[in-house]
Amino acid sequence: MTSQDIKALDAGSVIQTYGRFDVAIDHGDGSRLYSPEGREYIDFTSGIGVNSIGYANKKWAEAIYNQALKLGHISNLFYTEPYARVAAELTARTGLSKVFFANAGGEANEGLIKLGRKYSHDKYGDGRSTILTLVQSFHGRTISTLAATGQDAFHKHFFPFTEGFRYVPANDFAAMEAAITPDVAAVMVELIQGEGGVLPLDVEYVKAVRKLCDERDVLLLVDEVQTGVGRTGTLFAFQQYGITPDAITFAKGIAGGLPMGGIIASEKTATVLGAGDHATTFGGNPIAAAAALEVLAQLDDATLAEVGKKGAYIRDAIASWKLPVVGQTRGLGLMLGVSTVGAAPKAIAAQCIENGLLILTAGSDALRMLPPLTITYAEIDAGLAILKTVLEGYC
Ligand SMILES: *Cc1c(COP(=O)(O)O)cnc(C)c1O
Repeated sequence: MTSQDIKALDAGSVIQTYGRFDVAIDHGDGSRLYSPEGREYIDFTSGIGVNSIGYANKKWAEAIYNQALKLGHISNLFYTEPYARVAAELTARTGLSKVFFANAGGEANEGLIKLGRKYSHDKYGDGRSTILTLVQSFHGRTISTLAATGQDAFHKHFFPFTEGFRYVPANDFAAMEAAITPDVAAVMVELIQGEGGVLPLDVEYVKAVRKLCDERDVLLLVDEVQTGVGRTGTLFAFQQYGITPDAITFAKGIAGGLPMGGIIASEKTATVLGAGDHATTFGGNPIAAAAALEVLAQLDDATLAEVGKKGAYIRDAIASWKLPVVGQTRGLGLMLGVSTVGAAPKAIAAQCIENGLLILTAGSDALRMLPPLTITYAEIDAGLAILKTVLEGYC
């Protein structure tokens, strides 16, 4: 099929929920992607932080193929080796205690919300179920995770939303202190707000919130759906914040392109969800788990250290251009936002794509880069050259 054929088929038969870029992708290799017509693109998106080890990763494909030949699926009523090994790897590398497997980020966060509320209900009973989230956060598209999302734009059309969420401005400790009233069960945050604009929380703020939550026995829940699995240069972002969350969620990058998500609970919350409290048909699926094992094997300490270095390399390069259209560059590792001055990020992104670089936007003011963690310096240079040319057109 040509790109035109695919677009026509989409227009005729798919519910139009996406404002798609005007590009069809047929295949990839490393951090390069190709249209059906063979047009090449450098990829700074990795499927929104998903293709953590790049495209057509041979060992990843073999792990999936070999597992599919062996056992493609079996219900969670039975034990299988792949998910158990992923759980052991995640707990060993985080110091956290136990894993629940889901299939995506929003679904993982639904489970996290249930865990947070049940912890409080088991201990304190009714009337202590409110979850505080941050203004400008994003936690998913289900009814409850939309309610958890601290952006008014997401609170339309679908009433009634799940009750029991309140929003607190980020990096404002006094506001958080005032918001933790006796009805509050948990605080739920992204350490770097991804969809909201690549907005990092301050380390001192997060440490102070951790201490406050401990004092009030309020759980600190961290949504690492975007920041997790090596994206920021450590396996999870909390490992750079000097805190231990009571539970975290992961998804996007974990299986390198197959759907998987989940919760990692600390010792304190590991037994909150018991038999019958939560479940999923597909969570921990053997093929997704085999893919995740390969992703975790490839994201060894040396590769994670490189993520930090590549992020610094990109920031240094952009700073060296000294272009007035470039504002602040923010983020950690290979989760980077570049605010633009006097030019709409969406228009810049569309122009980059025309010139052979796939790049995202975040919030209203920023370009967003989430390249595969395995991107090479040559691929980075090729992508930055396109970005520079496009940005120079605004000067
Ligand atoms: C993407 C994202 C989600 C939603 O994940 P899905 O897999 O799309 O359900 C939730 N939280 C954060 C922080 C995200 O970036």
